[in-house]
Amino acid sequence: RAKTNGKNNFQIYSPTLDIPSFKQYELERDLRKAIDNDQLLIHFQPRVEASTGKIVSAEALVRWQHPVWGLVSPGEFLPLAEENGFIIDIGDWVLEKVCQYIAEWKRVRLPIVPISINITAQRFLRNDWKSTIISILKETNVDPTLIEFEITETTIIQNEKLVESALKFLKELGIKVALDDFGTGYSSLSHIKNLSIDTIKIDQSFVSQITQTPNVEIIIKSIIFMANALNMNVVAEGVETLEQLAFLKQQECTEIQGYIFSKPIPEEEFQDLLIRFILRPITRSKKPKIKD
Ligand code: C2E
Ligand code: MG
Ligand code: MG
Ligand code: MG
Repeated sequence: RAKTNGKNNFQIYSPTLDIPSFKQYELERDLRKAIDNDQLLIHFQPRVEASTGKIVSAEALVRWQHPVWGLVSPGEFLPLAEENGFIIDIGDWVLEKVCQYIAEWKRVRLPIVPISINITAQRFLRNDWKSTIISILKETNVDPTLIEFEITETTIIQNEKLVESALKFLKELGIKVALDDFGTGYSSLSHIKNLSIDTIKIDQSFVSQITQTPNVEIIIKSIIFMANALNMNVVAEGVETLEQLAFLKQQECTEIQGYIFSKPIPEEEFQDLLIRFILRPITRSKKPKIKD
């Protein structure tokens, strides 16, 4: 064991301890080339209408198919991308890819639902953001009302002025806006009422505590009540159990998103699901088998 004192001593590290940072190092090194090498992909997670069980929209979630590390989740590479600014290119790529998918679904006459895309406030900082969105919409000829941007509550609080004007522009364009991870950012009603927000997404940290913590149910009830009163859509994220689903339906939550219906899935699988369940409800007995 290496001594901690003394000038000429050196530490001996166990190599296993270095694996997480080695992975981080490789991911950071390779991220820049991920788009050019065609390694990014989008998975879709359906959003289901609570009252009917039908698919009414979906969230686009980015993944990275790394040649060595396999399918890397956004939680692992987006923080790196936020740091080195690469998040802007990733975000633009996601928007373009989603619009291309929608255009393709339209071309082959598949059912189309609105798609929500996660966006960071960083994107609004660079002055080409409006022209980029406009040119992607034009080039793909996608109806802007089919696109919803998800912005986290924390992001809005940290960049209030910037986000406020950005949301105004999006509204003028016809793009919808959802407040993501709601409940985690301690924002007050007064923050929200000035912003043009169409949808509130209740964070899964609340949803997972349904039937576990009484106060959490009261919080969720008030969020749904508030959203309904403000004429906003309200989506519960991370719904996994029948108990959670029953509670949310009873509270008149508009939409449900979570593993109880489907994990985020590749485009072809999402299309299969959509064709089968856009008109008919997803029920437990008819629940399709979905690979991870
Ligand atoms: P988010 O926007 O809040 O997305 C929801 C996350 O919850 C997704 O994780 C999804 O797979 C997961 N989830 C959905 N249902 C369930 C469930 O029933 N149980 C559990 N345990 N988890 C569930 P994912 O795909 O790993 O994405 C994580 C975060 O990364 C997203 O959180 C979002 O903030 C960010 N992200 C993903 N794609 C993009 C993107 O294209 N651009 C940006 N800027 N951020 C993205
Ligand atoms: Mg989201
Ligand atoms: Mg969320
Ligand atoms: Mg989140």
